[in-house]
Amino acid sequence: MPDVSTAPSLIGMKPEQLAAAVVAAGGKAFAGRQLAQWLYEKRVADFNAMTNLGKELRARLAHSHTLLTSRVIAREESGEGTTKFGIRLHDGLVIEAVLMREGERLTACISTQAGCAMGCRFCASGKQGLKRHLTAGEILEQFYHVGAVLRDEGDSWLTNVVVMGMGEPLHNFDGLMGALGVLNAEWGFRFGARRVTVSTVGLPDRIRQLAQQGYQFNLAISLHATTDEQRTALIPTNVGTGLRAIMDAARYYFENTRREVTFEYTLVGGSNDTPEDAHRLAALLHDFPRANVNLIPMNPVEGSGLHEPTGEAVDEFTSILQDADVNVHVRRKRGRRVQAACGQLRLRLEA
Ligand code: SF4
Repeated sequence: MPDVSTAPSLIGMKPEQLAAAVVAAGGKAFAGRQLAQWLYEKRVADFNAMTNLGKELRARLAHSHTLLTSRVIAREESGEGTTKFGIRLHDGLVIEAVLMREGERLTACISTQAGCAMGCRFCASGKQGLKRHLTAGEILEQFYHVGAVLRDEGDSWLTNVVVMGMGEPLHNFDGLMGALGVLNAEWGFRFGARRVTVSTVGLPDRIRQLAQQGYQFNLAISLHATTDEQRTALIPTNVGTGLRAIMDAARYYFENTRREVTFEYTLVGGSNDTPEDAHRLAALLHDFPRANVNLIPMNPVEGSGLHEPTGEAVDEFTSILQDADVNVHVRRKRGRRVQAACGQLRLRLEA
């Protein structure tokens, strides 16, 4: 059997590609659809379990192709219903996925890159730089790993997906769209686009490109600052984009998809959490249709030199936005848990 690192994976392939793989393995094209059902509808990544495919065909497919190319090397229960997965890719790089359970809501937070090129100061992934983009299949494999845990817990399935793990999703646009296309397709996972949130640092051209894809994904933009100077200090890529262009692209996204845009704002103590910041944020969103602001009190990242905001600063910031009629939520727990997942598990695994 070929090495998993060289045999192509069937996960991520469209029906016509699966049909071609089946035909090349001596089967009939219609079996491609059966293969899609096993892989995506039933989420079974095991040739032996695909019992309506002939034994010989399965053996030939297993010779020419692989299924999962990554494996879970660490699982950490963080309490409050959160499970973090450390996942090793075929080339040894480690990414992460997170499962969050909140009542009926089961959310997977998935990664799109190994490392990240954006270099945000408050983020552990950014410290490593970009190692590489994940393929569509590698992005999708995270659902099999998370799904295996859910299956053990009583055959439940995800209700929501956030693309907010390691990496900037829109920087890996092709991989992202390949994966989300399979996730959403009738022949794929049949996962509703409105239950998927793409979280970006704010790449205006790519936001516009996403708006043109014909999907209704939710969009979350990490704003984190109210002046370009301040934002560039936290998010170096802001130099080439700027707040104005991001806000214009966000409006374009709303106009094309009619989906509410969420603005993520990490409150960093003594840095972007002043009343003046709150007023500037309210002004930025003043005429924005259907915006939503998530305030995330910062979770300190060792060595970043950035601090947690005080409770009073968080309260005052929130009231100023509320007084300006901005729809605002403080993510004291969930947001912090998601943020805590970003990069930090991997750093420990690689240490
Ligand atoms: S916050 Fe997101 S975009 Fe910024 S460095 Fe971390 S993973 Fe990359």
